[in-house]
Amino acid sequence: MLALSANGHLPKADYAIFADTGWEPKAVYDHLDRLEREIATPAGIPVLRVSAGNIRQDALDPEHRFASMPLYILNPDGKPGMTRRQCTGEYKIKPIERQVRNLLGYPYPQRVPKGVFVEQWVGISTDEFHRAKDADVRYMRNRHPLIDLGWSRSDCVRYLSSLGFADTPKSACLGCPFHGNAQWRAIRDTSPEEWRDVVAFDAAIRQGNARANAGGNPLLGQAFLHRSRLPLDQAPIDHVTAAERAARQHEPAVAVDPEELEHGVVDGCSPWACRGEADAEPTRDGFGLAC
Ligand code: SF4
Repeated sequence: MLALSANGHLPKADYAIFADTGWEPKAVYDHLDRLEREIATPAGIPVLRVSAGNIRQDALDPEHRFASMPLYILNPDGKPGMTRRQCTGEYKIKPIERQVRNLLGYPYPQRVPKGVFVEQWVGISTDEFHRAKDADVRYMRNRHPLIDLGWSRSDCVRYLSSLGFADTPKSACLGCPFHGNAQWRAIRDTSPEEWRDVVAFDAAIRQGNARANAGGNPLLGQAFLHRSRLPLDQAPIDHVTAAERAARQHEPAVAVDPEELEHGVVDGCSPWACRGEADAEPTRDGFGLAC
């Protein structure tokens, strides 16, 4: 959408906002720098980078309130579960809303007057139109220009390729539990340093987040980044195993979907575009919240 706007196929955007969780792959930060340098700045569109902190550091800091990631849980009775996802709201939606209020001239906690709003473009394509949602605050009105143009994901890829951006990486936290095996393999096989980083993080959250443990609210059971509920460096990321399929059958709210096992939760983590089913496994309340 930024390129479409910069090249005059969409109206000129006033700003582009990137919500930085502090734990994106290096390829994403490099891509963002390049987008800014080659597309946004020449078109006069400022790229605003907003942040609510570093999700990786916060998870491991006993002093910090941690908005929980959607971790896979193995309960003491062997039953699978998940922790409730709060990170998208905390690390993406909140800092964007804060920035939008500042741009409008009504920083929190001022009241934004009725009738004052921004038009926010969300990059949902036609093959995922069911994700298009309204904003949850009055001062933001969502539009979905790719759907209005009738553009599918492959139209976007074609357009990006024509601009020399064929290798646009997927934006998500490096250790996001929504990754499918293909994404885990890509990290392992192309970026040894980032692989060590996610393996170390996976081991560090096994007993839950640091703040909850320090506050006497430890996780009962074990937490994992991979849906097999095995340590990441032992998880079957090269195959969708029979055991993994069988484990999924204990989770009736989510159908066994080989595509999802391979490529991750389809809708992943996107502000104003989250899919309810992504959170549909039995969730653990109270874990990962402020104690
Ligand atoms: S990418 Fe994953 S871990 Fe990061 S904020 Fe989104 S859901 Fe949470």
